[in-house]
Amino acid sequence: MGLLPTARPPILLTAAVVLLSVACKPSGDGVIALEGATLIDGSGGDPVKDAVILVKNGRIEAVARVNEIAVPRGAQTISLIGKTVIPGLIDAHAHAERWAAERYVAWGVTTVRDLGAMTTDSAMALRNDWNLGAELGPRVLTAGGMIDGVPPTYPTATGVASAGAARKAVDQRAVAGTDLLKIYTKITPLLLKPLMDEASTLRLRVAAHLGKTDAVSAARAGVASLEHMAGVVQAAARNPAPYVNAHDRFLTGWTLEESGWASLDSASVARVARVLAATQVAVVPTLVLHETLARLDNPTLLLRPGMEDVPASAASVRDVPGLLKRTRWRAADFQAFRRARPRQDQFVREFKRAGGLLAAGSDAANQLLVPGLSLHEEMSLLVAAGLTPLEAITAATRKGAQLLRADSLGLLAPGKVADLVVLDGDPIKGIAATRRIASVMVRGRLIQPDSLRRTWGK
Ligand SMILES: [Zn+2]
Repeated sequence: MGLLPTARPPILLTAAVVLLSVACKPSGDGVIALEGATLIDGSGGDPVKDAVILVKNGRIEAVARVNEIAVPRGAQTISLIGKTVIPGLIDAHAHAERWAAERYVAWGVTTVRDLGAMTTDSAMALRNDWNLGAELGPRVLTAGGMIDGVPPTYPTATGVASAGAARKAVDQRAVAGTDLLKIYTKITPLLLKPLMDEASTLRLRVAAHLGKTDAVSAARAGVASLEHMAGVVQAAARNPAPYVNAHDRFLTGWTLEESGWASLDSASVARVARVLAATQVAVVPTLVLHETLARLDNPTLLLRPGMEDVPASAASVRDVPGLLKRTRWRAADFQAFRRARPRQDQFVREFKRAGGLLAAGSDAANQLLVPGLSLHEEMSLLVAAGLTPLEAITAATRKGAQLLRADSLGLLAPGKVADLVVLDGDPIKGIAATRRIASVMVRGRLIQPDSLRRTWGK
């Protein structure tokens, strides 16, 4: 939908403004007018030059082109000529940690979908602090603690071994008030059925990091999203049994599945992508996770720009030796992971071509995945895999909002939440420009990333 109104409404609007200014005081108090930027509104439509965005009380009041609407007298006008405005970014696969709150904001991430390994209680406490503004941070929608088979991969997850236990784990999260559910690798098709039944009764959507269930079976059972594209290898391989069995031990399963992509033929990958797109399941590929695992033997990653945002104490990001010790990954494993990457990219392309919903997610905070920065790396990798820059931005904005069923997010239009990012460059010419952030608006409050960087970690 274009932003250009027909000839009549501006005249009517101008008349209304004149009448209003005669009848009462101008209503520009508390209005912020962002003027002159090129607008990418998140819908996937073409960028609009010379845009004006009126913001009031944390919401967008109007979006138009300069001179098409009157900026109310008394409004705070901010010139953004030469800049590009995009919606606040949504990280569709995050593991939110408290230290990362301002880092997310500084990188333009204003919403995270928390698929945490923490307990449900700690996730709910963090959600309250960030959402209610006790701490400056992105909006959080959280799955609480994960639901896994037995024994659970992480001690903080709930391990379930029966249909009754699966239903109970869902109920506990519904009572606690989580926004969604996250299931993990050891959930079998037998456990998935009662779990999905209970989740549907309680209207909780399910994010699936699969292992012992293949992607097509899970999508047909009704999961909302496939995280990391896990379960695709099981669905595309001629013999899925070795993968399914390997997931009895988490890292063995992950290692085998990650390498397994390289053994898939392109026709099977295309077929599974089309079947999945037809089920309406969303895919959160987290290419940045796959790319990072494939390059974990490269010590320069620890020194790349952006790592300075990570405090020395953040083991989740910095402890690469610890992960290598647990995984015992060797040079041959990293080579296998690298051979897998083109097939993963092909899957993303085919899924997109078939009309599937792709949402950008990072998996940060995790080894070498920096909260905030890694979502920009994900957008770059989505473009490298075959999306246009506009499609990559949409995957990190509107598509993420669709996955969250959060209608007021991810789109810059009247009535939506005023979360947006002001860029110095033009991301359509080069997606890396999303990293050149001039300012970030969170619920109508304009923030300079540099002012945050000056204070954190001190
Ligand atoms: Zn994750």
